Amino acid sequence: MNIETIAAQAAHKIDSATGAVAPPIYLSTTFERDADGQYGRGFVYSRSNNPNRQALEECMALLEGGHSAVAFSSGMAAISSVFQALSPGDHILLPSDCYHGTSQVVRDVFSDWGLKATTVDMTDPEQVSRALLPSTRIVWTETPSNPVLKITDLAGIAAIAHDAGALCVSDNTWASPILQQPLALGVDLVVHSTTKYLGGHEDVLGGVVVGRQDSDFLRRIRSIQSRYGAVPSPFDCWLVMRGIRTLAIRMPAHSERALRIARFLEEQPRVERVHYPGLPDHPGHATASAQMSAYGGMLSFQVRGGIEEAFGVAAKVKVFVRATSLGGTQSLIEHRASTEGPTSSTPDNLLRVSVGLENVDDLMEDLAQAL
Ligand SMILES: *Cc1c(COP(=O)(O)O)cnc(C)c1O
Repeated sequence: MNIETIAAQAAHKIDSATGAVAPPIYLSTTFERDADGQYGRGFVYSRSNNPNRQALEECMALLEGGHSAVAFSSGMAAISSVFQALSPGDHILLPSDCYHGTSQVVRDVFSDWGLKATTVDMTDPEQVSRALLPSTRIVWTETPSNPVLKITDLAGIAAIAHDAGALCVSDNTWASPILQQPLALGVDLVVHSTTKYLGGHEDVLGGVVVGRQDSDFLRRIRSIQSRYGAVPSPFDCWLVMRGIRTLAIRMPAHSERALRIARFLEEQPRVERVHYPGLPDHPGHATASAQMSAYGGMLSFQVRGGIEEAFGVAAKVKVFVRATSLGGTQSLIEHRASTEGPTSSTPDNLLRVSVGLENVDDLMEDLAQAL
């Protein structure tokens, strides 16, 4: 089945009890046990499993081409489950440009648990090889990366990780499975913040881990899901499934608009630099063209000057919304360094843009007047 069909039908989950085409939301926290003590219908208690969560997990496994998926209450819960599945003394390689929450949780929480981490430029395979240790268990990738849209060669980095006996994990939030399929490139685990493009409407928080194969590590993540209990509610799962139905047409639409805006920004005298992998002079353009079907709806740009000039531009937008997050129908603009806080290494003059689904001329006009 092609991915557009899987997405449009949300994995064809017709309710078996009633034939409902839009699935019901199963709010029940507990499920009846058979007279012989079995749970013949497969559900026991909603922390361990729930019909809506199961449907979302099956759908995500199909979309990413994986063996199975494990859903969480947020992207950070999904990401943390991967680190929680490691053991004290294990070593992680993290990319220098990466979602701030990921590097922060490793530094501030998991270092106390005895996990070791080294930060490298994931776009440089030699640096990655040199940083590997005998104890390296995970090579973490995020492409395009947050916030300067670096592009990592997923097949190349997965091969390096495997040679060293480590797993390669890829945060596929920004590309979504429509634009990029990391598992097919050899990556072992994909993580998502489903809060972003998968949910797609800025109204639900969630996360998911998808494994290429069944493994002890994936089973450990599943057991962390039900024991630690950072599980998504049935309604959250339902909302993400609803978002998925339009994902395959939303992603190319976000990407087309973002490319137009990136080209437009390049021409603006008050813009110093545009970061978008769809631009031919972006250092990751060739790799992105090889591993993505379009370049996505995220871009960032640096305003000539410093923090004040960048805030000045953000202050003047009327169509864009000044807010964090991404992946929804409304275009957002954000001064990223101040969101990330004092440990941020994001340039002070950088604005991050999530291009929504508005008319692109309205968006360009808005940026033109703000600049
Ligand atoms: C937003 C985001 C996360 C965190 O997800 P939450 O749902 O906010 O917990 C992780 N990775 C990337 C790339 C993100 O954009």
